[in-house]
Amino acid sequence: MTNVETYKKVRPLCFRDGLSLRVKIKVTGVVQGVGFRPFIYRIAVRNGLTGYVRNRGDAGVEILIEGNEQSIHSFLRDLKEKKPPLAQIHDIITTTLTGKNQEMKFTIYKSSEKAELSGSVIPPDIAICDECLTELRDPKDPRYEYFFITCTNCGPRFTTIERLPYDRENTTMREFPMCGYCQREYSNPRNRRFHAQTVACPKCGPKAYLATRNGEQVRHEDPVREAGRLLSEGAILAIKGYGGFHVAASVTKEKPLLTLRKAKHRRAKPFAIMARSVAAAKSFAEVTSKEEALLTSYARPIVLLSKNDVYSLSPLVAPGLHNVGVMLPYTGLHYMLFDRVDDSAFVMTSANPPNQPIVKDNGEALETLGGTVDYFLFHNRKIAYRCDDSVLRVHVTRPSFIRRSRGYAPAPIMLKEKARRCVIGLGGELNNTACILFENKAFISQHIGDVENVETRAFLLEATNHLIRLTNSRVDTVACDLHPKFTTTALAQELAEANSWQLIQVQHHHAHVAALMVEHAVDEIVGITCDGYGYGTDSKAWGGEILFCTREFAEFKRLAHIEKQPLLGGDVATRYPLRIAAGILSKKENMEPWLLRHSGHLPYGETEAKLILNQLQKGVGITETTSCGRVLDAVAAVLGVCYERTYEGEPAMKLESAAIKGKDALSMKPLISGNVLDTTQMFHAIFENIRKASTADLAYSAHAYLARGLASLAVKKAVEAGVKTVGFSGGAACNQILAGIMRRKVEAAGLKFLVHAAVPAGDGGVSFGQAVLGGFFRF
Ligand SMILES: [Zn+2]
Ligand SMILES: [Zn+2]
Repeated sequence: MTNVETYKKVRPLCFRDGLSLRVKIKVTGVVQGVGFRPFIYRIAVRNGLTGYVRNRGDAGVEILIEGNEQSIHSFLRDLKEKKPPLAQIHDIITTTLTGKNQEMKFTIYKSSEKAELSGSVIPPDIAICDECLTELRDPKDPRYEYFFITCTNCGPRFTTIERLPYDRENTTMREFPMCGYCQREYSNPRNRRFHAQTVACPKCGPKAYLATRNGEQVRHEDPVREAGRLLSEGAILAIKGYGGFHVAASVTKEKPLLTLRKAKHRRAKPFAIMARSVAAAKSFAEVTSKEEALLTSYARPIVLLSKNDVYSLSPLVAPGLHNVGVMLPYTGLHYMLFDRVDDSAFVMTSANPPNQPIVKDNGEALETLGGTVDYFLFHNRKIAYRCDDSVLRVHVTRPSFIRRSRGYAPAPIMLKEKARRCVIGLGGELNNTACILFENKAFISQHIGDVENVETRAFLLEATNHLIRLTNSRVDTVACDLHPKFTTTALAQELAEANSWQLIQVQHHHAHVAALMVEHAVDEIVGITCDGYGYGTDSKAWGGEILFCTREFAEFKRLAHIEKQPLLGGDVATRYPLRIAAGILSKKENMEPWLLRHSGHLPYGETEAKLILNQLQKGVGITETTSCGRVLDAVAAVLGVCYERTYEGEPAMKLESAAIKGKDALSMKPLISGNVLDTTQMFHAIFENIRKASTADLAYSAHAYLARGLASLAVKKAVEAGVKTVGFSGGAACNQILAGIMRRKVEAAGLKFLVHAAVPAGDGGVSFGQAVLGGFFRF
């Protein structure tokens, strides 16, 4: 992650030798909720300075110091060099004041509501730190076995802060007045919990309790460990965490997993799991050192790990995939769940009803999850803002975001240059986020989800407004997708009108490529962008595009694309990829006998197969797409890897899993006519070799063909245009096989190959792409 920090002085300090000075300092960045004021207090006292420090309403910190020149210099050096680990300093603005010294000592003052600077922000939620974990296990510590133990260096932040400045009364902790013990630690400058707003203990802090599915409290002196025991025995529990509820279950028992799949309407979508430790994760998955570093980082994301040879978790956890999403405990409560059981892991999946945001309130949980779970493990602290877990995957040694949320949001992505406008990007429709671009910082919201109904639309709006307030941004432009029917497009139009903001509509794949360019600070690029669907400038469905983009213009050039293929029945074909396969096959041969033979994989069997054949003959109900995802879906269907898409990306993900141990058995030469990569011939070659080669080899061959074809087209176009960089973005860029082959091909041609590092490659990065297009490209 980029972590560029700039220091600027508005006015140079003019020190008068030997005389005492007064200097006002404003610090912006991630400086509230990270132990910054206690740190300032300590370095001021150490340097013998008097004055004060206080939080401001704009998420910045204001400092006044009085003392001699040398001490002030030493203070400023400490400020830059010794800052707390979680703090990010963006700017330090110093002003020398006139007048006499007034402060007798150094004090942490009550926060000021003043908000004039923009671009600071509160930190993300932070996993329990080692010191708190040690105390949790220490029978002599007053917070022994306290599930909600936190300190200045750890605990919830983003999800507990309702408004700025970051003081206890502005968080959902205000309902828990500190006891004498906590208060003493809170007021002691030498204590780790000095001014820690989430400090609490068993006496004064939030309480955890078990309840039945109907909400009746189950009395138990040790509800957290009891919850762990119930899970181990096969019960399903909803567990309240920092940013929402998880639904938890055993990873080895079939019954709860089957119940969960049925109730969650998730027939095959993989469940994330929480392993008790790295060692436990290694008992069922491969864990590289890079993956281990991510798993144990304070963000504690879900990391997609390859299942190992002795993988013995239930096949219902991540059906048909070669990998499984694993995270480690990140709160005291999570650690305690594993205390009295032998389980290596529990399913720990976000509790969200279909197409709705993650559940956060106790009442909401009872209402929406009561029918699914056996018990609730509640606590009585409110969640201010929802935040799902983040998901990452490591490509060789490069981590890439599938979802950037808890542990990362709302920390900014630092850019090399300042944007010309303050833009908010509202994203697309699926896997959505919002993004505020302010100067050289991009604040991407937590994961919002699929914005298709009133609940997710409301969540998007709430998250957007919260982000604007937190960053004190003066937005002047709103950016959205080009699709005329997206909920986010309508919302952008409303916001533009209501606030007199400029409205910018950005083509989906252009947003992907722009995101890549600005993330890596390149001015021009030939971008390969592949995914399932994006609305094209010709109103057609795109998804396998090669675009030339330059910051000189806000327009792009579509240089090449994948061959158009028919979708028999439009969106229905997306759900049942056998229809796409039938469409491609029909271009070259009579596929009637084949389709009838496989009609058992269509929901209405032979009747449906006959309808499809009829449709083909008459040419009705057929749309076309250049989507790379749809071609992979069709290959998945023809190879029998996946016949129905029950979750976003399922057939293509399963095809990658099928290919992971395969080789390029067919070595097909990419067939390029003009600016179009042919996929019909490739598809037929796969079809003809079904009995001759293994599924793994054919799945790999399809990947290899597409990756080599797209890469050679991109290289050719880049060389023709004198462009030195080729990039790969879009949801398919999460595919390791595609990205790996493309990289080798592009680098072999002497060009630079870029993929995303700080921004999700998939649709979670679209809001960032839209925002940077509005802020950096010439209109
Ligand atoms: Zn801690
Ligand atoms: Zn207490």
